[in-house]
Amino acid sequence: MSDAPVMPIESGTPDSFQYMHPTLRKNYGQWAYHDRPRPGVLHHVSNFGDEIWTVKAASPRQLDILTLREICDIADKYCKGYLRFTMRGNIEYMVTDESQLEPLIKTLNDAGYPIGGTGNSVTMISHTQGWLHCDIPGTDASGVVKSLMDELIDEYVAEEMPNRVHITTSCCQINCGGQGDIAINIQHTKPPKINHDLVGNACERPSVVARCPVAAIRPAMVNGKPTLEVDEKKCVCCGACFPPCPPMQINDPEHSKLAVWVGGKHSNARSKPMFHKLVAAGLPNNAPRWPEVAKVVKQILSAYKENANDYERMGEWVERIGWQRFFELTGLPFTKYHIDNWRGSRNSLNQSAHIRF
Ligand code: SF4
Ligand code: SF4
Repeated sequence: MSDAPVMPIESGTPDSFQYMHPTLRKNYGQWAYHDRPRPGVLHHVSNFGDEIWTVKAASPRQLDILTLREICDIADKYCKGYLRFTMRGNIEYMVTDESQLEPLIKTLNDAGYPIGGTGNSVTMISHTQGWLHCDIPGTDASGVVKSLMDELIDEYVAEEMPNRVHITTSCCQINCGGQGDIAINIQHTKPPKINHDLVGNACERPSVVARCPVAAIRPAMVNGKPTLEVDEKKCVCCGACFPPCPPMQINDPEHSKLAVWVGGKHSNARSKPMFHKLVAAGLPNNAPRWPEVAKVVKQILSAYKENANDYERMGEWVERIGWQRFFELTGLPFTKYHIDNWRGSRNSLNQSAHIRF
């Protein structure tokens, strides 16, 4: 046997340079400037005088094989077979011959792919993995996204928002989707229902007890079998016990609702990254079009579009005007569910006596 240490096999994403458009590869790190000749198109000029136009189109997010083939055929026809997807599932086509720009845009529009998302727009909505790849979702996050994108297509194409609007959805309260200007997240409203016959065999009980953020779970015996029990007065219905212990079922067709959160961002441009805050709770998880959620999101977008200053992100706008004014402008009701009554929340409550105007 060799004395050489056993090294891990690296199996992450492959080197992206091999798939990059040749003009991008040649000019990597050598761009002189770029401009936006029209919504949905970026024009880059390199220090060597090379030019490239990038056309950004929306995808339906979940791609079937026929749609993928159509997307690739368009890239073969206009872009030497090169295309790329952004983090949010936009498709980017690149052309080096300006005369190909309009035919490419026409082909995409005729095939039903809207062009936009490059400037101050509602860009493609991101969603968590949902039923495709995760075992704990309470809703079909990608379905909420598709129905919302259909409703907000004009805001993708027109790019008339004060700043970029990043909308995210998450299909459980663990929220692996991160922070968003507007976030649509599952909200469980009842503690888990425990199947005591299965807990002993399926769950590692100490890990489940340790998982609860409010110490509401304790070991128990039911019908002579080891199991777990929940102090329902303490439980905040977060759902964190369900992934390590599926017999603690928390997803419920009636009591798993959707909530809308506002003002999160990851960027640290102009202001610090922000957590989003709850603004609408208890909306029905109403597949396949989620109309109640769409209505709330449109109310928020319309108030933001009319009232925010140029280049103000959603959270910065709310910070400036205050939450009271936010609820007045959006017409959303302020209810008891907006008050964080968890005893650990005293650190995050606004304890300042300052008044903001
Ligand atoms: S949000 Fe929750 S359920 Fe959805 S993919 Fe992420 S961890 Fe899974
Ligand atoms: S749902 Fe959350 S708070 Fe309730 S018992 Fe499970 S882990 Fe604890």
